Amino acid sequence: MNSIFFEFRQCGVSLKKEEGVSECTGFEALYLAALDSDVSLITGVPGYPITSLMELFLRKPGEKEPVEVSKDKPRFSRSPASEIPRDYSARWLTNEKVALEIALGASVSGRRALVLVKHVGMNLLSDPLITSITHTIGAGLVIIAGDDPGAKGSQNEQDSRWYGRIAEVAVFDPANPNMAYRALRRAYELSEETRTPVILRVTAGLEKSKGKLERLPEAPTLHPEFDRTIWKKRMVEKHQLFHSITYPLLEKEAEGTYLNEVRGRVAENTDLSKVKEKATENTGHASGREHEKIGIISSGFTSSTVEEILKKQIKPHAEDSCPEISHLSLTLVNPLPLEKIKAFLKNNDKVLVVEESEPFIEEQIRIAGKVYGKKTGHLPYGQVKSEDLEFALEHIGEEILKPAISAVLKAGDRTLICNDCPYLPLYHLLSRLDVRVAGDMGCSVLSAPEPLAAIDVSFALGSAVSVACGFGKKGIAIIGDFALAHSGILGLLNAATTGCDLLVLVLQNEVAAMTGGQTVPDLSKVVEAITPDVSFFDIDTDEERVQDKTGEVIDRTGKMTYETEKTTDRTGNDKEARNGIEYHIPSTRLSELIQAKLALPGLSVIFIKGKCRKY
Ligand code: SF4
Repeated sequence: MNSIFFEFRQCGVSLKKEEGVSECTGFEALYLAALDSDVSLITGVPGYPITSLMELFLRKPGEKEPVEVSKDKPRFSRSPASEIPRDYSARWLTNEKVALEIALGASVSGRRALVLVKHVGMNLLSDPLITSITHTIGAGLVIIAGDDPGAKGSQNEQDSRWYGRIAEVAVFDPANPNMAYRALRRAYELSEETRTPVILRVTAGLEKSKGKLERLPEAPTLHPEFDRTIWKKRMVEKHQLFHSITYPLLEKEAEGTYLNEVRGRVAENTDLSKVKEKATENTGHASGREHEKIGIISSGFTSSTVEEILKKQIKPHAEDSCPEISHLSLTLVNPLPLEKIKAFLKNNDKVLVVEESEPFIEEQIRIAGKVYGKKTGHLPYGQVKSEDLEFALEHIGEEILKPAISAVLKAGDRTLICNDCPYLPLYHLLSRLDVRVAGDMGCSVLSAPEPLAAIDVSFALGSAVSVACGFGKKGIAIIGDFALAHSGILGLLNAATTGCDLLVLVLQNEVAAMTGGQTVPDLSKVVEAITPDVSFFDIDTDEERVQDKTGEVIDRTGKMTYETEKTTDRTGNDKEARNGIEYHIPSTRLSELIQAKLALPGLSVIFIKGKCRKY
């Protein structure tokens, strides 16, 4: 498909409005909240963990609703017996900045919009996000940022809540399906009240969590358009307006919303007796008073973990000298409700901050001096599990701990290139060339570790061409067709217009294989228009062969022959020293083509077509 919108569905989803939903996951709750908020446009860029959320919107008309509908819970007063059709368009795009810009266009036209990106996508869209705050918008616009505590399916770990601080926008971080539903519903209202986009942060924990959901009546269908009177103000006046009116509205919301709540004190907790013992040990405190007062401040999915721990360990008739634990569960985390937090700190002897991934809240309040969390080594960075929480509670009051480390992945947990990937022969070939190779964030990044060691560096999606331009002497950029469409095309444009000495290999498998096989636009004509030397090679029809670890050589017709050949890679190690895996790459048309292009001065591009075996 050549359209920039490489997946597009116009959906007419019908929900019986008089019916309630008994139980759903966090992402299903967000899907329903978007429908009930009258969202017209959903744009997104695939990536863990938000791909599965977009897939709910991309279901074809007539496909089964993703959530079970309970017939015994009448919820809606308007149009009680009717089915209300919902029309929206949902589109996968290749670039997050573009996704937000299209959503801004919808917003100024009076249509509510939703943008779905993974955390690294926030880096790209931050430019129009930050400027939209003082420029103002029209109808409600929410960005759902998918964070990946523990970096289970990502190139890094990042905390999107920080973008709330940078852009000065509201950030919701819900704990469970019901809070997710309510947070998104409120986010659209707040976005229109403040005329700014709102961020809602999700994690895989929320995606998988299940809980009861109580839906609210659907939103009105009339939304504000962009107010042109903002052009009467100079830039400095726009900033003054923002700081005198808009941001105070957000602060008021954070202090007053029921989404930021203090749960009741938990006392008589025998299973947390270690907490009491440790607290007494560390402060010598318990003798003078009955209860050590411990507070927990949490945000996002960790709030559910805190509640589970506290509920699990309560026993009704326990000794009454155990600590009292209270829990401030935050859903609106930017701006922080500082007055509420100040009172909470005052009411507690020690406060533990529980959050994923970074110490976002802890950093802002630790000046209070009795705050514990990641910075004090009580909790790990990244994902926080229930055992981490128990450990932190047992050691609260200890001032210096060795930094807590999250559980390390077991050997073998690394994602590997598929055994039958059509590009394996190419990776073997690259590992033998004496040139520097810049990779990208597609499957090719999996070829970086030993034993393949095919690429040298890989910084970000779409970065390979520009990185290789900086090598100093001719190198190779290897980039997937999705990464090229994402942002690599800009690097190629630069390489073509600045006379960069470089060979670019575009892996054209026509899918975004790392994120679930979404289709990718074909940019070969665009590349031909801007680059003088473009070649095409179909790796599936070539006679490349690769020898597997048993020493058998598999050719593309499926036949196996046994061959042995010892070769030396560019680091000087022979193949047996690399995990005992021995590969044989015959001299082929592809290696000859690559060698020939490397010998030429200037920029060359080879499109290497191969059918992904997975999608
Ligand atoms: S998913 Fe497709 S492109 Fe990626 S390694 Fe597997 S076969 Fe190759």
